Amino acid sequence: MPYRFLVFTDLDGTLLDHDTYSFDAALPALRLLEKENIPLVINTSKSRGEIEMYRSLLGNRHPFVSENGGGIFIPDGYFSRKFRYGRASDGYLVIESGTSRETLRVVLKSVASETGIRLRGISDMSLPEIMEVTGLDEQSARLAMERSYSEPFLIYGDEEEVVRKIVEKGYNHTRGSRFHHILGENDKGKAVRILSGIYRNESPSIESVGVGDSPNDLPMLKEVDFPILVRKKSGIYDSGCRLENLTLADGEGPDGFNSAILKFFIKYEGKTSTENRI
Ligand code: MG
Repeated sequence: MPYRFLVFTDLDGTLLDHDTYSFDAALPALRLLEKENIPLVINTSKSRGEIEMYRSLLGNRHPFVSENGGGIFIPDGYFSRKFRYGRASDGYLVIESGTSRETLRVVLKSVASETGIRLRGISDMSLPEIMEVTGLDEQSARLAMERSYSEPFLIYGDEEEVVRKIVEKGYNHTRGSRFHHILGENDKGKAVRILSGIYRNESPSIESVGVGDSPNDLPMLKEVDFPILVRKKSGIYDSGCRLENLTLADGEGPDGFNSAILKFFIKYEGKTSTENRI
């Protein structure tokens, strides 16, 4: 059955509470998406292992995007029509557009030595340190360390100078709800474009909704038909996320996700497949 809508969501600070990582406040909206057969595609800076943990907690069977667009993982057999992918791995067809983590680590080290600014990448941190910085439990922190296409890091000094140097070296910088990230060519928006195209093969009139909280979500929000921004824990909307057609959700993190998604889809309830479209 063709889909009428598709929802892309960030995790940290959006579907998951910034401090507790709970999605409980979003359960009514998640149930509505499930009932209306609207795919929820996780599009996050988190690693594949972390996402798989949340997919199983959420009962989510849809494709997902890891490490700010570095990897797109599509369950084998999810789409009936053929599409281009890079490799098959553990039941997924994977589209990779990220630069290897090893390369990014080398670049980050040269940025630190050339600017004289102390940078601390997640690979330089011990497990207890990651747990302390992120508030993650041990298992989640271990999964967070297993990355392929990005290196989250902290800056102890002039942030602008570090960003300038990264860009000068031909790499991208973005900021999530907790870490800075150094990336290759990939971002969340490119992943949305690729995946939306594949969905459109089977559901030509599909429209996309995107929900995020931080500047690394901006490329995703620009790419979707209906962008939604949730409040930060501090109660404010990130000043780095401005778009003309942006809907400002009433609530922070999963609360905002819940209210905005319910508000958006309640009017489509029962009409969310193209067969029922009025
Ligand atoms: Mg976030």
